[in-house]
Amino acid sequence: MADIWKPKLGINIKVLTPGLFLFQFYHKDDMKWMMNNGPWSFDNAILVTNTIPARGDLTKVPLNEVEFWIQIYDLPSGYMAESVGKQLGNFFGSFVSYDLSNNTSNWHEYMRIKIKVDVHVPLKINKKLYKKDKSDFMVNYKYEKLADFCFVCGLLTHTEHFCKKKISGEVDDSSWE
Ligand SMILES: [Zn+2]
Repeated sequence: MADIWKPKLGINIKVLTPGLFLFQFYHKDDMKWMMNNGPWSFDNAILVTNTIPARGDLTKVPLNEVEFWIQIYDLPSGYMAESVGKQLGNFFGSFVSYDLSNNTSNWHEYMRIKIKVDVHVPLKINKKLYKKDKSDFMVNYKYEKLADFCFVCGLLTHTEHFCKKKISGEVDDSSWE
């Protein structure tokens, strides 16, 4: 991770328990940059990060939220607006920000927004929206920098190979591509 982040003032990394790491940055800006430019992956698994309190049990720090940029496709013209982005962001996860530099009023293939997702909740596939005249359309979206995740249940916490749902046979027909 140090090779990827290249913190200007260095970093100290400790393994707390298998799969749980403590990263100590020597400058606030280095840490902020890392927190704002994720998601990061290690060994093809998503790295879930959080800041820690000055004291307390480090193994109890909640590690369940990851921020992603997503690209939303198939929006009809006139739907490239921050209010639409907020609604979609809060459907796919929780809305964080709207990429104004990408989402201009000029024609663009997709809308780009940042969302926060809970890694213990399955990722959503798409969303049906209704126009004022009650006709509907489907928007699809793509995650930027998405590491491996489970194509069976949509969770980021494991891959298909380790899926309990797949092993127990309770698999529905929704497919991930
Ligand atoms: Zn699974």
